[in-house]
Amino acid sequence: MVQPLTEMAKDLTLALIENNLIAPEDMQQRLQQIYTSLCELKAREDRNLGSGEGREEEVRTRPPVVDWRKSIKKHSVACLICGTSFKQLSARHLRQHDLDPRTYRQRFGIPRTQALSAKETTALRRRVAQNIRPWEKAPTYVQAHQAAPAARPIRARKKATTTSQS
Ligand SMILES: [Zn+2]
Repeated sequence: MVQPLTEMAKDLTLALIENNLIAPEDMQQRLQQIYTSLCELKAREDRNLGSGEGREEEVRTRPPVVDWRKSIKKHSVACLICGTSFKQLSARHLRQHDLDPRTYRQRFGIPRTQALSAKETTALRRRVAQNIRPWEKAPTYVQAHQAAPAARPIRARKKATTTSQS
């Protein structure tokens, strides 16, 4: 609660009288002095707030607001924690910061739909996806997968050969 200046001045003056620091007959004069001093202090305080000095302080103590949009560029995406640039911000890298793509997005307010990769990489992936989709919808593909969803001998063999190569 903010005490009015007149009340503050009166309290201070009474305190001075109670402690025998001033004579009661000097009260009026002392009250006036204290009131003037308080008014000056108050005016200085108001000036500081008005000029934004107080608010500036507030801004400095607040954690910096990171704009994730600036981290995603055409050819690179920067990790907002360590600043390293990538084509794709991988879950493996985020694990070094005890995060995963989901918690990373949460921390910096990145939308769930935003890819954590360079713009051109995202665009390329989108183009590839668009090229794949018609093929997926082709009757032969759909039929094959409806008939035998579990059987994928070709892919399994392929995987086996790549692991033996590496
Ligand atoms: Zn990092």
